[in-house]
Amino acid sequence: MGQTGQEGARVLVGVLGGGQLGRMLALAGLPLGLRFRFLDPSPEAPAREVGELVVGDFDDPGALDRFCAGLDVATFEFENVPLAAAERVAARVAMHPSPRALATGQDRLSEKALFREVGVGVHDFAAAASDADVREIAARLGLPLIAKTRRMGYDGKGQMVLREQKDVDACWSALGGVPLLVERLVPFEREVSIVACRGSSGEFAGYPLTQNTHVRGILRESVAPAPDPGGRMSDEAARHARRIMERIGYVGVLAIEFFVRDGELLANEMAPRVHNSGHWTIDGCACSQFENHCRAIAGLPLGPTAARAQSVMVNLIGHVPRAEEVLRVPGAHLHLYGKAARPGRKVGHVTIVGPDALAGAERVKAMSLLT
Ligand code: AMP
Repeated sequence: MGQTGQEGARVLVGVLGGGQLGRMLALAGLPLGLRFRFLDPSPEAPAREVGELVVGDFDDPGALDRFCAGLDVATFEFENVPLAAAERVAARVAMHPSPRALATGQDRLSEKALFREVGVGVHDFAAAASDADVREIAARLGLPLIAKTRRMGYDGKGQMVLREQKDVDACWSALGGVPLLVERLVPFEREVSIVACRGSSGEFAGYPLTQNTHVRGILRESVAPAPDPGGRMSDEAARHARRIMERIGYVGVLAIEFFVRDGELLANEMAPRVHNSGHWTIDGCACSQFENHCRAIAGLPLGPTAARAQSVMVNLIGHVPRAEEVLRVPGAHLHLYGKAARPGRKVGHVTIVGPDALAGAERVKAMSLLT
């Protein structure tokens, strides 16, 4: 791979997916001398403004060829990219994280198996491949449970809480008759996540633990660093992330979401990419998750991950507030994704940094009511 600045050549990074994560990767990587090309089915993809956009389906061989031509390295910003597309790209150009990491992140059962394999705590779960399996698991584990499609789930989609027998009866067809993961519904105290990065030489950098609040299955707010007296949970989460990354030879940013129950971490899922719960790092850290992902995949040294100050990120969902109003909040940074507002759609986020971050977040939430 060409190195940044070498003979004036600029590293061309190909990103599968052109959503807001891709856009923020480019916003972080352009100053490092990287250039970006995106593949996305939509001509309106948010990344269109920060790099070259190849419009095409992920399974269109012609579009994949145009995407791959001349790339130095490839990555993805969307974990539901078909595995075959990622493998096709990886056969032609170095891809980080690897298709293997993508495959693990696409299947809730593989994720849980990996967590168990490296000793990360998980709550009870079982795989269901039929209506009869769902009933058997419900009888064995007891209610309440939560059933999730093994694949293609995000932002709370493809999930159903099973509280009564009638939910068990309806579950298999309500979720479309596809393979499921059925888990115990955890009465958690809070949800936290770790975002960490591993470089190509094995270097590891973990961001502080973040505390997340979801509304209707969609992340609404992240507080960082998460309250964690003595840093015990933070250290444990970083150890878990490191073990997972080392086990699968991971390069780039990885996020792991946990439930906290009786002060213990239980892993819910992982995302083999930059993550919404790490958006605060753009304004709250010297080197953001986006910059560190770019550094890792381009073979550059990783940057510092400590928090500069208390930071709170509020997602803007279904509604774009007025910039004048948001920016009147002390310490507020506005990030819009160039997307049209639709109910339930993430159109931007605001990060408030500084000692009054929590109060500032309340003001931002009041002006960006969920739709
Ligand atoms: P997921 O798509 O797995 O991240 O789930 C979306 C949200 O649903 C989580 O952030 C939790 O708020 C909730 N949830 C998912 N799984 C469970 C569970 N096993 N117990 C309790 N709540 C859950």
